[in-house]
Amino acid sequence: MNRSTSEQLYQEALQHIVGGVNSPSRSFKAVGGGAPVFMKRGSGAHFWDEDGNKYIDYLAAYGPIITGHAHPHITAAITEAAENGILYGTPTRLEIKLAKMLKEAIPSMDKVRFVNSGTEAVMTTIRVARAYTKRSKIVKFAGCYHGHSDLVLVAAGSGPSTLGIPDSAGVPQSIAQEVITVPFNDLEALREALDKWGEEVAAVMVEPIVGNFGMVMPKPGFLEGLCKLTHDNGSLVIYDEVITAFRFHYGSTQTYAGLDNHEDIIPDLTALGKIIGGGLPIGAYGGRKHVMEQVAPLGPAYQAGTMAGNPASISAGIACLEVLRGEGVYEEMERLAIRLVDGLQASAARHGIPLTINRIRGAFSTHFCDHPITDYEEAQDTDGEMFASFFRHMLDRGINLAPSKYEAWFLTTEHTDEDIDATLEAAEDSFRAMSAER
Ligand code: PMP
Repeated sequence: MNRSTSEQLYQEALQHIVGGVNSPSRSFKAVGGGAPVFMKRGSGAHFWDEDGNKYIDYLAAYGPIITGHAHPHITAAITEAAENGILYGTPTRLEIKLAKMLKEAIPSMDKVRFVNSGTEAVMTTIRVARAYTKRSKIVKFAGCYHGHSDLVLVAAGSGPSTLGIPDSAGVPQSIAQEVITVPFNDLEALREALDKWGEEVAAVMVEPIVGNFGMVMPKPGFLEGLCKLTHDNGSLVIYDEVITAFRFHYGSTQTYAGLDNHEDIIPDLTALGKIIGGGLPIGAYGGRKHVMEQVAPLGPAYQAGTMAGNPASISAGIACLEVLRGEGVYEEMERLAIRLVDGLQASAARHGIPLTINRIRGAFSTHFCDHPITDYEEAQDTDGEMFASFFRHMLDRGINLAPSKYEAWFLTTEHTDEDIDATLEAAEDSFRAMSAER
C-alpha cells in the first residue's frame, strides 16, 4: 500500500506541530515509529487517506464516532447549529435538552454541567469532591486514564499505602503526594489505602468498566465494595465514564445489566465526554444535587468555560444520542462484534498466535498473551512487539486500529457484515504473515 503522501505530510507536520501530531496517542511511537496515516475523508465505517487508500475504521476517533463518520443526522444537526450562529456565550434551550437526556439515562446525575473535554470533566469532579468533603487526596486505579490534568498524571508509589509519583514531567511532587494509586479489581488494596490515608481522602475515582488498558470488567462485588468502603470513609465515589457512557447500552455503567446491584454501585459524581458530543468537543459532569451545588455560581467551587455548552457540540450530542436510542442499535453492534471476535480468535489459533480478547458488547480489546486481563499488570504483560506487527499488517490491508496495544476496537452503527468479512480476511493474512515471521 502506497502511503507516500502521508509520509510527506508527516515530515511537514514535524516542522510545525510538536511531534507531528496533536495528541501523542496518534503517533506511531508505540508500534515502531514512522509516519502515521493522514486521513482525508471518513464516511460511515470507512476512511480514505491522502493517497486514496480505503480503510475500515475501528478506532472511531478513540470512541466518540459510535455512529460512524459523517452520520447524516449528526451532520444535519451541526449544519443547522452553524447556520444559527456557532457560539453565543449565553444559555440556550439546546443545553437543557441534552442535560435532560443525560439525566434520564444516568439517574444518579441530579444536576449536570457541560465542559469541553473529558479531561475538564474529570478535573472538575475532583475539585467538587474536594470542596464538598473539605479533604484533598484522591485514590485512583493503576492503568485507568483520566485525561491529562496534573492530579491524574500520577503513577503508583511502591505499594497501595504509599503516595504517588509524577507520571509526567511538569507534574510537581507536591501534587503527586495528593494521589494514591491502587490496582484495579483489588478491594484489599483500596481498604489498605483508606486505612492509612482515609481521613484525607476526598474521593475514589475509577473507570467502572475500564477502557484504557483493554476492556476490563469489574469483578463481581468490586464496584459494590468500592462504593461501600469509600462512603463508609466519608469520601465520594467518582465514576469516569468518558469512554463507557452510551458505549454498551443507552446509559452508563451504573445502569449496565450484569453488574452488581445497581443501588449499591451509584457514584456521587460522574464524568462524561466522547459519545455525548457526537464527535465535537465536549465533556460533562454531574451528580447528586447537594454535591453539585458546590459549583459556581451556586457554590464556592469555581469552574467556567467560554466554549462550554456551545450549540454545535450540544446539537451533535443530541443527534448522536437520538441515533443510539434507535431500536436494536446496540444489539446489532454486539452481533457484529461477536462475529469479529470469534473469527479473530479462530484465525489466531490456526496460526499459533496467543490472543486474549476482552469483549463487552460492541467494544473489545486484543491482547497478545495466554492469560486473562483483569488488571493493569496483566495488560502490561502482553507482547507489544506482536501487537505492533499485527497493527502494521492490518493497516497495510486496510484496517485502521489504534496504534497501542491497550486500546479497544469499537464497532459503530455503520459497520456491516461485509466489513467484518473483509476484516477477518485481513486478519487471517496478517496472522499467517506473523506466524511465518516468527
Ligand atoms: N477519561 C477517560 C476514561 C478517557 O478515556 C479519556 C480520553 N481517552 C479522558 C478521560 C480524557 O478525555 P479527553 O481526551 O476528551 O480530554
